[in-house]
Amino acid sequence: MKKTNKLKRVVIIGSGFSSLTVSCYLAKVGYNVIVLEKNEQIGGRASILKKNGFTFDMGPSWYWMPDIFEKFYQDFGYTTNDFYQLKKLNPAYRVYFGKNDFIDIEDTPEKIVKTFSQIDKSCEKPLKRFLNEAEQNYQISMKDLVYQPGINITELITKETIKKLPLFVKNIASEVKKITQDERLRSILEFPVLFLGAKPQNTPAFYNFMNHADFGLGTWYPEEGMHSVVKAMQKIATELGVTFKTNEEVIEIKSNKDIANQVVTRKETYPADYVISGADYAHTDTLLGENQNYSADYWKKKTFAPSSLLYYIGFKGALQNVAHHNLFFDTDFKKHTEEIYDQPQFPENPLFYANFPSKSDKRLAPEGYSTAFFLIPTAVDLDDNAKIHQHYLNIILDRIEQNTGENLRDKIVYQKSFGVNDFKNRYHSCRGNAYGLANTLLQTSVLRPKIRNKKLKNVFYTGQLTVPGPGVPPAIISGKIVSDYIIKNTPNG
Ligand SMILES: Cc1cc2nc3c(=O)[nH]c(=O)nc-3n(C[C@H](O)[C@H](O)[C@H](O)COP(=O)(O)OP(=O)(O)OC[C@H]3O[C@@H](n4cnc5c(N)ncnc54)[C@H](O)[C@@H]3O)c2cc1C
Repeated sequence: MKKTNKLKRVVIIGSGFSSLTVSCYLAKVGYNVIVLEKNEQIGGRASILKKNGFTFDMGPSWYWMPDIFEKFYQDFGYTTNDFYQLKKLNPAYRVYFGKNDFIDIEDTPEKIVKTFSQIDKSCEKPLKRFLNEAEQNYQISMKDLVYQPGINITELITKETIKKLPLFVKNIASEVKKITQDERLRSILEFPVLFLGAKPQNTPAFYNFMNHADFGLGTWYPEEGMHSVVKAMQKIATELGVTFKTNEEVIEIKSNKDIANQVVTRKETYPADYVISGADYAHTDTLLGENQNYSADYWKKKTFAPSSLLYYIGFKGALQNVAHHNLFFDTDFKKHTEEIYDQPQFPENPLFYANFPSKSDKRLAPEGYSTAFFLIPTAVDLDDNAKIHQHYLNIILDRIEQNTGENLRDKIVYQKSFGVNDFKNRYHSCRGNAYGLANTLLQTSVLRPKIRNKKLKNVFYTGQLTVPGPGVPPAIISGKIVSDYIIKNTPNG
């Protein structure tokens, strides 16, 4: 531990996974860290909602890439089990394509390949090849790519990555087409890259490492839900001396010449030697006045990951014909993605995701009741309201009934919705995005918004709008990248 660092005051804006990660790594080497969060709780988009005995994760619910979480805990002398038990889900998820027409994705690649071959015999070989390549890409990506700061193109060039260059000019959709003619199987293979926020047609084929994350590494459930991860990280940070302040909205970052020296909230002014923001990048720039890194125009031209309409539902009883995670792909996948990216508008006939976590964890609902969480991805920048939310909830309830034969509508005892405008208000989300800036070819790695401010040398950005991209594991990686960079490259690091 470096004694001098104790004198270095780090002010972190926002308390999402990226901020929590930076706070832990910098506190570990002796920096004096304070985290300022505008909302009433820590965790950012992974907030928790507790109402009438029901517990809802407000954002992420898929625990993928358990290796990234474990690596983080190990860096602080812990293991995942020190904080929560992980359960591997089987089925990992269920995909509905119509009435009683669904495919269960099981918990090992062997079982999944078998399921696929039973539907399309000819896909076995190409699928195995695709999954082998996905695994290789995952290893290369974790070893050589995702932990890079995105500063210089040379950081991406290794013997292994050069061999993979062709996969950056091909896209996932075209690779998936080669595996099977079956549209249902194709949509399952394209699903993982939706986490990266762009259409499969616009996502480099190299990102099929997400298919390894899906089939190879599996879908896990942390007991008591995703917010357990927030609690674990906050515990580590607190043990290392990090101070957390909630209801503390930052309104300005003040500077003297090329150094930021004060962070001003609605209540107080905090002196700072380093300022790191895990709040949405575009919002952080508005706090910097003329020292912003990018203009409002820059953000308008970017491809954002979708926004979402979200529903938190408490209901009596339980549904039998659903799994923990369910995708309702019983409408036109292509049309919905066009309504998100190409002609932004409310979807006519949306795909949606339905999560029933109390199927795996009874603690999330009072006895005899269940929790549900629904998500419809939408374009950013839409102007939504309560009436629109109710309209789409009705669509979801009808479709669950049509597809599963089970009625949910009459059992609802609690409901709350959250939409595009809520993302803007609650998280200062740029254009109402739910999960950041998409990983298209032109928004990958060195082409993503930079982690360091160009004018103020002690101001840094972390989180899902910078490297490496959207998702909980990438947010953790983003925090590690920024803390490593500060420790290695700044004069007092
Ligand atoms: C509905 C939804 C579902 C998702 N599902 C999954 C999933 O299943 N699996 C997965 O891996 N990922 C998922 N994601 C993505 C994942 O949750 C995010 O990528 C990740 O949590 C983002 O973390 P972050 O550190 O970038 O910041 P955020 O979580 O966005 O945190 C930023 C914080 O900054 C705060 N802030 C903003 N402005 C200020 C200010 N002026 N002053 C102080 N604080 C401020 C905000 O309140 C917020 O708390 C989902 C996201 C959403 C929204």
